[in-house]
Amino acid sequence: MSADLPFFRYHPDPLASGSIRESAETCACCELSRGWVYTATFYTARDVSGGFCPWCIADGSAAERFVGDFTDSYGLDGVSEDVLHEVTRRTPGFHAWQDPRWLVHCQDAAAFVGEVGYAELAAHPEALDQLRTDMRLNGWHDESRLEHFLTSLGEEATAMLFRCNNCGVHLAYPDAS
Ligand SMILES: [Zn+2]
Ligand SMILES: [Zn+2]
Repeated sequence: MSADLPFFRYHPDPLASGSIRESAETCACCELSRGWVYTATFYTARDVSGGFCPWCIADGSAAERFVGDFTDSYGLDGVSEDVLHEVTRRTPGFHAWQDPRWLVHCQDAAAFVGEVGYAELAAHPEALDQLRTDMRLNGWHDESRLEHFLTSLGEEATAMLFRCNNCGVHLAYPDAS
């Protein structure tokens, strides 16, 4: 990980998640080639010719210039306006099959860790328990089917893992094609 990249509190390792990669591409906002380019979602009605550099994400200039959001505010309930803006306008989004959503804990947005399978999820039993509870609430009443789905994560479906910056707990939601 390059020490030169801006730090994103809500997405601390965008290289590991694949949202930012090394590239000689010119940034669509500052028009400089900074060596790194953003590869994930950006929602805007404007035409954007190419990717953004991490600096134009971090300082909000890309979101401001193209009147867009990196992440939909869906799911970001109960967080302050500042946090909402930091996540949607100054934080790299991530790649997902379905529209990405951001998880919340301790009335703050959680930090996105990455897309994981069962083994990585099982290393954080609290995330696995929370996912199991959420899925039961969403209508997964067949326990053996549910356990099969969870242990198969990483194959067809995956889990999006987050970590609370305040209490350190891990959380996840399932994503599938
Ligand atoms: Zn730029
Ligand atoms: Zn927390």
